Amino acid sequence: MIHEILQVGNPILRQVAKEVTEEEISSQKIQDYILSMKETMYAAPGVGLAAPQIGIPLQIIVIEDREEYMSSMLPKIREERGRRPVPFHVIINPKLIYVSNEKSIFFEGCLSVQGYSRITPRATHVKVKCLDEKGNNKLIDASGWYARILQHEIDHLMGSLYIDKSDKKTEIVLDDENKKKWLNATAQEINCYFNLK
Ligand code: ZN
Repeated sequence: MIHEILQVGNPILRQVAKEVTEEEISSQKIQDYILSMKETMYAAPGVGLAAPQIGIPLQIIVIEDREEYMSSMLPKIREERGRRPVPFHVIINPKLIYVSNEKSIFFEGCLSVQGYSRITPRATHVKVKCLDEKGNNKLIDASGWYARILQHEIDHLMGSLYIDKSDKKTEIVLDDENKKKWLNATAQEINCYFNLK
């Protein structure tokens, strides 16, 4: 079932989501939640969705980044942002581990902050310990854009949004003109434009 995505201002987005027990994971209720999250993410469309965004205060995330979402980006820009397709997967009870202090910047948006985007710094390399939808332990090693998606979605489970860790002065309206303008911008061009370094 496709759900409405809660928007900033809704208190559920600001709660710390509860961990899911191993017994709960196999329940029909949780499996139905996962299916609804997958359908809602595809319909949006988005590259990730956290359960609180559809009003479920549990530590569940779905992620998928498709080739079609990045096909209009230049190869050098994909390379710089580390944007590569990521198959669909489910993340439950994640623990984020920062592998290095290196950070990268780019515009980030959120399905719960519709119509806007801001430059948001994120660690370029992280690991995530979690369970999958069958309750199996997983260790994810992620870099580039996938690392950004993971940090963004795990923040949702902690009641945090990207607007908490980005500079309001870099906010843009996500209209067609801006999407086109920044789609293939290098990090250096963005830094210069917003006078970040
Ligand atoms: Zn989001």
